[in-house]
Amino acid sequence: MTEIKIYNTKARAKEVFTPIDPDNVRLYVCGPTVYDRAHLGNARPVVVFDVLQRLLRHVYGAEHVTYVRNFTDVDDKINATALARKEAGAKGTLEELVHERSNETIAWYLKDMGALGAEEPDHMPRATEFIAPMIAMIEDLIAKGHAYEAEGHVLFAVESYKNYGALSGRSVDDMIAGARVEVAPYKRNPMDFVLWKPSSDELPGWDSPWGRGRPGWHIECSAMSHDLLGSSFDIHGGGNDLQFPHHENEIAQSKCAHPNADFARYWMHNEMLQVEGKKMSKSLGNFFTVRDLLDQGVPGEVIRFVFLGTHYRKPMDWTEKKRVEAEATLRKWYAQADRALDNAEPYSSVIDAVADDLNTSKALAEIHQLSHADDVPTLRASLKFLGLMGDTTPDWAAAPSVDLSDLATKLHETRLTAMQTKDFSAVDALKSALIAAGVQVRMSKVGVDLEPGPDFDAEKLNEI
Ligand code: AMP
Ligand code: ZN
Repeated sequence: MTEIKIYNTKARAKEVFTPIDPDNVRLYVCGPTVYDRAHLGNARPVVVFDVLQRLLRHVYGAEHVTYVRNFTDVDDKINATALARKEAGAKGTLEELVHERSNETIAWYLKDMGALGAEEPDHMPRATEFIAPMIAMIEDLIAKGHAYEAEGHVLFAVESYKNYGALSGRSVDDMIAGARVEVAPYKRNPMDFVLWKPSSDELPGWDSPWGRGRPGWHIECSAMSHDLLGSSFDIHGGGNDLQFPHHENEIAQSKCAHPNADFARYWMHNEMLQVEGKKMSKSLGNFFTVRDLLDQGVPGEVIRFVFLGTHYRKPMDWTEKKRVEAEATLRKWYAQADRALDNAEPYSSVIDAVADDLNTSKALAEIHQLSHADDVPTLRASLKFLGLMGDTTPDWAAAPSVDLSDLATKLHETRLTAMQTKDFSAVDALKSALIAAGVQVRMSKVGVDLEPGPDFDAEKLNEI
């Protein structure tokens, strides 16, 4: 069996992965807050953990993996969008508009992430469907002396958990210094965080022993992972911006509620995405959603390829240059894979690279080797394993990337003129330029036929 190694944030080391139960390998990944379209950065954990779940299924069997990724559908930002719609005259109660917003955002998310070749997890729990287990967990934490009620809020008492901060290896004092902790008069310690808070009458809220209210963000993941995966499971993932406070708080809650269990045994965190070397932000004007790119005609496979080119624990830079190169490489690979049948296994070196803490850039380098060796069945199987290809070549790669008909007309007309003037220099120059751009030129008495060849380079056409 392939040995999988993963970098465990908790151990700050690469470790051999040993599942609790090889017949049911369990993975939980923190999902999005569903208030708007996913930006390109949000797609990074989706692709990273999709590669991981594909690897786990390859090694342990497709049926022996349970992958859970939640939707946070209780949030002030969702409420704010609903409020704005109501103010703009939308029909329905605020609660209905909140629901509508979450539903449409979830549908967008699944469609956009699907375009990146990400398979849907086995379970996609919505926080609003797990309120009862959250309330039960909070009651249990209060009973065990780890949480307290104050002014309609329930807070987790950070001092009651001695290992608080162990994941990121920081002391509570360091964390206080570095974090924007909300200071509130009802907190015993400024680091104490909300498990439950009151909700106004018109916004979504649920009855609880502490009055009508809603859960805090962290308890959602503790309760949903427990309900679906149990009190000890294998891997917990998310972006490294979630390490503190979100994951520290999840650990504190889950370990205090189930002191004899492990909660998550391996913690994996992806680094952030940047754009052309800069943090993606609305103020810098370099903020875009996955949908923006797809609508501009950037294929999902190209986005995925660019992501896989950088190791998940390194900051990754989205650049136009990478996009262009990814598209050209994928076109070439698809043209080869298209000739093959589904009669091979993925290349063992590709599997081994991914099994080594998801070394996807190495996996791509191995696929380059296959391409040079023209081992098309293995190439095809390896592309499918990495999620870069489904059962068929994507339409965008099957069709020529450009419309060459204007150039064909131009060449035809230049030739007609040349036949009268007997000066063929303009025809020869045009034909040479087309060939230099990788275009296959066929001229006959009836006309001109142009087709992009294997070395086709659209950029060179601009010079013609
Ligand atoms: P959010 O909806 O903001 O909670 O984010 C959803 C997921 O996207 C989390 O796992 C974040 O860590 C991740 N994420 C947010 N921004 C970026 C970014 N720029 N690069 C990579 N991952 C990100
Ligand atoms: Zn979470």
